[in-house]
Amino acid sequence: MPAFKDLSGKRFHRLTVIERVPIAPKNGKKRTFWRVICDCGKEKVTDGALLAGGHSKSCGCLQRETVAAASIARKRPHKDLRDIWYQIRERCCNPSNKAFSFYGASGICLCPEWKSSVWSFVNYVLDHIGPRPSSGHTIDRINGKMGYLPGNIRWATRKEQSRNRKSNLVVEIDGIKGCLKEVCEKLNLSYTQMLYKIGKLKQDPQTAAATVRGIGM
Ligand SMILES: [Zn+2]
Repeated sequence: MPAFKDLSGKRFHRLTVIERVPIAPKNGKKRTFWRVICDCGKEKVTDGALLAGGHSKSCGCLQRETVAAASIARKRPHKDLRDIWYQIRERCCNPSNKAFSFYGASGICLCPEWKSSVWSFVNYVLDHIGPRPSSGHTIDRINGKMGYLPGNIRWATRKEQSRNRKSNLVVEIDGIKGCLKEVCEKLNLSYTQMLYKIGKLKQDPQTAAATVRGIGM
């Protein structure tokens, strides 16, 4: 039985092990060296421990590509903001976009100045609502019935956005029509319970109101 783990034929990221290279280990350490071939075609000899530990992933081409990508990102700042702008413009202004019917066609517009210039949008965001707090944040409309306009945008997580959409939900209960929150206040219904019944249990507003009142009795 070999005193080492045979790595022949195994893959580590971009590297595939060809064979063991008989190099005498220094300082009596148990080390094995392997000839590997990279996906790009280059061969090299590397330490088995580095392979197994995930520290040797390519001939060096992977690091070169990562450095090149970082340098491109530096030359073109705020890529995430520009991507967000592009997506907003698509759903608000491009009738062939899948989401257009929920946005542009429903009156959710994009401020004309932002529409014509990505940098006017990026600069507004950076100056007024600040840089993106995390990759989980997207641009949310404060008033869901209004478009992407100065004063009506903020950063929000998906969870916050869905909460905002539900609170802007228009309902009619006992003949009173309005945003769920307003209607709940007028009818003295628990907004939290109503939101749960309508949002989670998918009950219609009138049924939800009846059950919430039932609980209160
Ligand atoms: Zn390579």
